[in-house]
Formats: sequence, C-alpha cells, structure tokens
Amino acid sequence: MAGKPGSNSGWQTETVAVHAGEFVDPATRASSPNLVMSVTFAPEAVTGFSARDEQGYEGFVYGRVSSPTVAQLQAKLAALEGAEAAMCYASGVAAAHALICGRLSRGDHLILPDANYVGIAELARDTLPRFGIEASYVDVSRPEEVAAAIRPATRMLWLETPANPTMKLCDIAALSRLAHEKGVRDVAVDSTFATPIATQPLALGADFVVHSLTKYIGGHGDAMGGAVLGRKADLDALNLEASVHFGGILSPFNAWLILRGAATLPIRMRAHADAALQVARFLEGHPAVTRVFYPGLASHPQHELARRQMRNFSGMLTFQTRQPGPEVAARMVKELAVIHYAVSLGHHRSLVCWIGTDDIQASTFRHEAEQLSRYRDFAGDGVFRLSVGIENAEDLIADLARVL
Ligand SMILES: *Cc1c(COP(=O)(O)O)cnc(C)c1O
Repeated sequence: MAGKPGSNSGWQTETVAVHAGEFVDPATRASSPNLVMSVTFAPEAVTGFSARDEQGYEGFVYGRVSSPTVAQLQAKLAALEGAEAAMCYASGVAAAHALICGRLSRGDHLILPDANYVGIAELARDTLPRFGIEASYVDVSRPEEVAAAIRPATRMLWLETPANPTMKLCDIAALSRLAHEKGVRDVAVDSTFATPIATQPLALGADFVVHSLTKYIGGHGDAMGGAVLGRKADLDALNLEASVHFGGILSPFNAWLILRGAATLPIRMRAHADAALQVARFLEGHPAVTRVFYPGLASHPQHELARRQMRNFSGMLTFQTRQPGPEVAARMVKELAVIHYAVSLGHHRSLVCWIGTDDIQASTFRHEAEQLSRYRDFAGDGVFRLSVGIENAEDLIADLARVL
C-alpha cells in the first residue's frame, strides 16, 4: 500500500507515537503528514470498478476504500497497539458496528458485559436482535459466568476494561483463553479507557481491539473517530464489507487531527494518570465523598488485576457523594471554573458528568435482581464520572473542593 509505515523495529513507545506510519511526502518532501482530501486518485493504469477488483492493488483508488492520510493514521495505530493492521471508522460506535456486523450473521450469539459503553450496549439490546443476532449480558469480571453463557453458536466475546461507567475491570488474558478453549472464534476488547499505553489486548490473547479515537487517542475533543485493530487477513475482509459496503469510514480531515493527537499519546497518558491519582486521593479523603473507584487506588476492588494488566492507570475515575448527586451536579454546572460539566472523556481538558443509576437502567442496561444489585455495588444511586485532563492537579482539586 502507498501509505507504507516507516520502519519502526526497536523503537520505544514515545518514538513510535511520533514517527510510526508517517512518511515524507515524495512530491513535496513535506515533513508533517499531508492532509489529502481527494476522493479519487488517478491510477497509472486502468483498474476495475468494484472494490473487489482492488484487492491487492498497491495504490489508492477511491476514498471509501483507502486514502493516504487515513492510511498513515492506521499504520501509526497498528504500531502503537502491536497489531498487524488497523481500520478507521467515523466514530467509536461505527467501529464497533463494523466489527460486530462485519463478523456476525443471523443465528450467531454474542456475549457482552452487563455494563459497558451505552452506545454499544444499546446497539446490542435494541438493534442486533432485529438482524437475528442474539446477545447475553454477563458480569465479565466473573469468568465462571462467561463460561456458563457460552453456547455452540457463540461467535464473539465482547469485553471492555476498565468499563464505562462502573470502572470495573476484566482479565483479558484469562477470558481470551477461556473463550478460545470453548470454541468462541472472536474476542474483541473495547480498550478506549486503557489506550495502548496502558494495555495491549492482542498480546494478551484477544483477536480484535476497538478504540473510540474521539477519546484519548485524538485527545483534544475536536474530532470523532474509531478504529478496529487485529490480524491483517481479518481486517482486509472487514475492509471490503464494513468500510466499502457499510461506508462508515473516517474523514481524512479527522484522521489528520487524530494523527497529530496520537503523536503525544504517551506523554499525555502519563500526565492524565499522574493528575488522576492526585485527584482520586483527594476525593478519597474528602468528607463529602463516600466512594471513589480508580484502578490506581489500592481501594479499587480489582487493584491487583489493574497492576497486572495496566502499565498506566489512565485518567478515568468515578465517585459518589453523601449529598444527592443531582444537587451536586447542579452546583458543578454553575460553579466549576476549570472542569467542564459535559459528557465525553479522554480530552486534554477535564470533564465531569453525573450518571444516575435509575436513568441509565431505564434507558440502557435494564438489569434485574442480582445484576441490578451488583451494578449498585459499584454505582450506588449514580456516579460522577470524571475524566481527569492534563491541567495542573492542584487547580483541579481546588475546583472540585468548591463544589463538593
Ligand atoms: C465513547 C466511547 C465509545 C464510542 O465512541 P464514539 O467515538 O463516541 O462513537 C465506545 N466505547 C467507549 C468505552 C467509549 O468511551
């Protein structure tokens, strides 16, 4: 392919983030990646008309199949994740849809966490059944529940760790082994919270990794995107169906912004984790706060797994307050001066929002009985989800102290 990654054998992560996938433009000798918005490319010889005819063709033909700026981002992401290949999509949810609908068919069964990113949880609960794909929702922090849910038709185990919004972890290596031993073909991990800086799920035995590039990898809250990473043969097949036929591809402009963000991912993740640990310790010691969940705190119920599976504890934490959440949230909206009260996460600026348990149960998870009580073990009546940015931790602590 024309978007050939630079040779990166032996480079350390920081160097990979800056240089991998990028190349000096042969026409202009531009040092930074060119933004190529062209939709079509003039080939040097006559080519076929269907994307099927382009399999194996080295150049670019049409922007829905591949394009130079997106190809550079894909090569950089693959290098960061230690994957053979990456495919980019218009959003994280578009990437999840591409992978799930690109790999599964009517009659196939999928296992998902009982609490994970809302967009994907709702895709599985509300949309996939219309296409004959059935899903089971289990507490993936309990391998015995995953084992019990596996059926002959189970084709995919979907994991997310740390999970949104509970901050629960799951053991990627143990679950990948278990699923493969029981004949499940695909283990996919939504690694948006961890990023490749913390965890590389493919090295732990997973088959696919999914990222919302909108979050840490883009990192600046100004571009939506998503990616699927895995083996080249799998991703080539996915490209034909999920990119060319479904069409949810990433814009070159967004790829160009995300390329710039990805270059600083390792140093930003260090700053996120450093500030998050300071903020988490402050919250844990505050009389108005009843619980804090941060993988880097010894008080996280799975801190030992976090230490084994994460090289960086990332910037996401949740906390619960003595005062009703909606009242504290109303003060946050009016009075926070540094942190924005807003959804989304992984940006350079800090973001906080209230996720009420009754609301999210009614809209999305719909747990009953034991699953509901387990959700409440982590979320109580609701959680404040705080995405700690890269501002100075003391300024963030002062901002929180005024509204607690
Ligand atoms: C945001 C998010 C997504 C979806 O990404 P979009 O880019 O918003 O479509 C998927 N998974 C996780 C864990 C997320 O936080």
